Amino acid sequence: MSMEFVSTRGGASVSLDQALVSGLADDGGLYVPGSLPMFTPDDFGETDSLAAIAAVLLRPFFAGSSLLPELDDILAETFSFPIPVSPVSAAAGKAGLLELYHGPTAAFKDVGAGFLAACLTRLEGDPASPLTILVATSGDTGGAVAAAFDSRPGMRVVVLFPQGRVSERQQKQLTCWSDNVLSLSVEGSFDDCQSLVKGALTNPELAVDFRFSSANSINIGRLLPQATYYAMASLQHFRRTGQKPGFIVPTGNLGNALACILVREMGLPVGPVVLAVNANRTIPDYLESLEWLPRPSIRTLATAMDVGDPSNMERLRGLLGEALALREKIDVVSVGDEQIRAAMRQDYKDFDFATCPHTATATHAWRAMQAERRQEHDWILVATAHPAKFETVVEPLIGAEVPLPPELSAILSRPSRSVTIGPTMNALAGALRGRFFPN
Ligand SMILES: *Cc1c(COP(=O)(O)O)cnc(C)c1O
Repeated sequence: MSMEFVSTRGGASVSLDQALVSGLADDGGLYVPGSLPMFTPDDFGETDSLAAIAAVLLRPFFAGSSLLPELDDILAETFSFPIPVSPVSAAAGKAGLLELYHGPTAAFKDVGAGFLAACLTRLEGDPASPLTILVATSGDTGGAVAAAFDSRPGMRVVVLFPQGRVSERQQKQLTCWSDNVLSLSVEGSFDDCQSLVKGALTNPELAVDFRFSSANSINIGRLLPQATYYAMASLQHFRRTGQKPGFIVPTGNLGNALACILVREMGLPVGPVVLAVNANRTIPDYLESLEWLPRPSIRTLATAMDVGDPSNMERLRGLLGEALALREKIDVVSVGDEQIRAAMRQDYKDFDFATCPHTATATHAWRAMQAERRQEHDWILVATAHPAKFETVVEPLIGAEVPLPPELSAILSRPSRSVTIGPTMNALAGALRGRFFPN
């Protein structure tokens, strides 16, 4: 039996391979698995490593896929770095910190981008006719995608970022890669970058010379691998204590949080799930008012969570139901910038190391929880990025320097290069042909 993937908007079902390659369904919906496999902790035997747990968890999703024989290799490539849960303690009690920031660009998006790159290279990588991945970025996503596809045969990446609107370290992560990555500094806004990507994907002249794709964050190939670290963390905790840990997940577009909920729905020992959002309140307002009111995002300290219209909500409603049902199954806490600042200061005092502004939404939510509830469960707080990525925010607040982790110092010591273009289709076409054509 092969696993089918269906659109959240009800269109025809496709194979995993097709869902990975097309990203978005033809009807504009997001792909979800047609059925969810169910697990008990025993199904994982004694497996301990992340790649081994991932192989058990993801195998049913690869049923019928041409990638099934390569699943173990794909997972070994994806999880080339550790994802530990480290204990932290504070006046509020003890908790675990799920450190998702040991990948090449020091944020959890490395997991999804790495897995998608490992899959797409096997499905579509063709040195005679490379696939060109276009990605518009306001900072973090582009770096993870570039790192994931760097030097992969038959694959290219074009990263478009708004000139002068990304931090110095972010810019480095967008511009330090091999010849198959073209970094474009666009004289315009993030929206300009996005419309250039959309324009290129549908441009008939460019289609003659290029095979384009986008590695957008709603690709099912980003979601599936994210489920694996929740499976690992919950299994390890359950085996050790017999308790199902609760998770507090910093959330913007709901990708990472959805992975946590998905794992619970599949029978893994996950307790309560709390979503921590920033001042972008679309999700908590929905649970309170029962009305889904997407809106433009507002800028906060946790920039990677500045989402006013979380696209994965379609998947979440399909999985758990509408607002009334959601209320029963998840909690949502909105954390303002002042609370983020206070949480970062307190984390540094309590833990003796810094947290990033996104992670601080989770540590705030944990401290702010009713003491009874906090003590009723063991909690795992999800750390989505290393604080050294956001040193201009973090360092003045804690009054100390954040040591660079090895993966970031490796990136910062590389030479960088980018091509500056105006925000026009002609300029983009010129830069593409200048670097990549003829092959
Ligand atoms: C992308 C990102 C988030 C938000 O993740 P979603 O899957 O969009 O909810 C949180 N923290 C960091 C550091 C991120 O890069």
